Amino acid sequence: MRPMSNSNSKTRLYVECTLDSSQAITLGTSQSHHLYSVLRLRRNDHIRLFNGKDGEWSGRISVARRKATVVECIRCIKAQTRKPDVWLMFSPLKKSRTDFIVEKATELGVSALLPVRMEFTSASRIAPDRLRSIAVGAAEQCGGDFVPAIGKLKPLTERIRRWPKDRNLIFCDEARVGCGRFPPVEARNGGWGLLVGPEGGLSETERSMLAGLEFARGASLGSRILRADTAALAALALIHQSLLDDRGSDPG
Ligand code: SAH
Repeated sequence: MRPMSNSNSKTRLYVECTLDSSQAITLGTSQSHHLYSVLRLRRNDHIRLFNGKDGEWSGRISVARRKATVVECIRCIKAQTRKPDVWLMFSPLKKSRTDFIVEKATELGVSALLPVRMEFTSASRIAPDRLRSIAVGAAEQCGGDFVPAIGKLKPLTERIRRWPKDRNLIFCDEARVGCGRFPPVEARNGGWGLLVGPEGGLSETERSMLAGLEFARGASLGSRILRADTAALAALALIHQSLLDDRGSDPG
C-alpha cells in the first residue's frame, strides 16, 4: 500500500528556487526519484517546500515522474524564521564524525558551518557535496526552514584573519576543563562564532593566538574532556540555551 499523503503531508523538501503562488517547480532526478519511487507519491499528493528565504509552503504534485516531478506551490503555511546568527568552526574529523557534526549542528541551528584546518587536524579534506546533502537531509527532517552555508576547508589562521571584528568568538578549550561555566551569551548585532578543535585538541600556538584576540574568549565545557563531535554538540546546545534565555523566545 502506498503511504497516504494529503495536505498535512510531513514530506518536506528543500529547493533552491523562489517559492510563490505562481510557481511550478520541476524537481531534479534525485528528489523526483525520492518522491516517486521511495515515497511513491503521485499526482495531487501534497508535500511541503522551503528554500531558506520564503517560509514553508504547501505544494501539490501536478506531474509525477521518476525523473522530473512537477510541484505547484499552493500557499505559504509558515513564515520564514530568523536564522540563529551562529557560525560553527570545526576541524574535519575521522570517519563519520564530521557527518555527525554537520547533521547535529543543522538540527540545532547554525547559519554557517566553517571547516578549518588546525595544527592537529588529522583529516585532510572534506567532501562538500556530501556535507551539503547531509545538511539538507537534516533540515528537511527536523522541521528547519533553512540549510546552513558550508564553507570551504581553510586554515584557521586564514579564517581568523578575515573574521568580522564585530562577531564574537567563543573557542572551546580543553585546557579549561573543569574551569567554570560556559559563558552566558546575549543576542547581539554581529552574531556569534564557536570554535571546536580537532581530536588532537588546540596547539599552544593556537591557544595563545586565540587568547590574544579582542573578539574571542576561551570557554570550558565542563569537567570532562569531550570528543570533538560531542564538544560541538554541547557548545551549540549551551549557546542556544543562552540565546533563548536572553531573548525569551526561539533564537531561530
Ligand atoms: N586530545 C585532547 C582533547 C581534544 S578534545 C586532549 O586529550 O586534551 C577536542 C576539542 O573539543 C577541543 O579542542 C575543544 O575544542 C573541545 N573540548 C573537549 N572537551 C572540552 C572541555 N571540557 N572544555 C572545553 N572544550 C572542550
